Amino acid sequence: MENLDVIIIGAGSAGLSAGIYAVRSGLKTLILEEKLAGGTIADASSVVNYPGFSEISGGELAEKMTMHCRKVGATIHDLEPVTELELKGEKKIVKTSRTIYEARTIIYSTGSHYRPIGVKGEIEFKGKGVSYCGVCDGPFFKGKKVLVVGGGNTACITTLYLSGLASQVILIHRREAFRAEESLVNDIRSKGNVNVMWNTEVQEIKGNRQVKSVTLIDNVNGQTSELEVDAVFVQIGEAPNSQLAQAAGVETDEHGYIKVDMNQQTNLTGVFAAGDVTNQPIKQVGTAVGQGIIAALEAYGYIKRPYYRK
Ligand code: NAP
Repeated sequence: MENLDVIIIGAGSAGLSAGIYAVRSGLKTLILEEKLAGGTIADASSVVNYPGFSEISGGELAEKMTMHCRKVGATIHDLEPVTELELKGEKKIVKTSRTIYEARTIIYSTGSHYRPIGVKGEIEFKGKGVSYCGVCDGPFFKGKKVLVVGGGNTACITTLYLSGLASQVILIHRREAFRAEESLVNDIRSKGNVNVMWNTEVQEIKGNRQVKSVTLIDNVNGQTSELEVDAVFVQIGEAPNSQLAQAAGVETDEHGYIKVDMNQQTNLTGVFAAGDVTNQPIKQVGTAVGQGIIAALEAYGYIKRPYYRK
């Protein structure tokens, strides 16, 4: 059992930013990550709205953040999933696949995961044409016909990325107006190989070993149609990875997002949360970074008298 000041759970944009500030504040810090450090921003083909970088690939930004965090001296344990938390006492207990740690504070920054559409064939063909990440799987479908599902920024960015690889991209949206930023929508309109289908949903994904077609339904007139496609990119948003925190008594909203106050404090003292797992409505790299910083400085303030408070 190691005694630490802060354990940061999740090494995405929020967790890495928290790590940089916690270490530089002199806190004995450990960052635990179930996969590899960097977080879901690594899946973004390009990031064009993070200050300081007019355009950078998500992978490169994630790598730069991770390297920065390691450079200031943070200890990051990749591939060490947390299995159970005890957060109600003064000492916070974190059980992982390897050992048990003890810390005075916790920063929960586990992010979110891609939401499925929940139709027949989606699980069966996952990795066989059904994908949740354009950058990861798009290159497998060079010159092919692909379908993108969704109407937000993620769906539009993925559509634009795929339009540079696939012969044809069909973007289907369940309503008849995008939720995405206007500039992305204009870019989509300018692409000759992108077709948008409004008021349309996937009813079933079909194939044999790989995706071959989808059954679509027009949700206005109820008519169904078959469309041959080589891949289906589901891009309908994300859901929070908050289950372990919830099980340990951390309060969430009705969608599972962790409730935090303006200091990133949860309902449990000494337990902070930051980034996409929280109920803060804006989900951007920049806001995740800001929340990670606040959480680290508030954890510092909880343990020691903060230098930034007179
Ligand atoms: P989102 O904005 O929540 O959009 C999800 C889209 O999927 C919506 O258009 C929604 O339709 C649709 N949808 C939801 N459930 C569906 C279902 N079961 N079947 C079919 N369609 C469904 O999610 P997002 O695009 O992932 O973006 C999440 C947040 O990240 C946003 O704040 C966004 O601005 C931000 N983001 C920013 C960037 C960037 O700045 N570079 C990139 C990506 C995302 P309705 O419109 O009908 O609800």
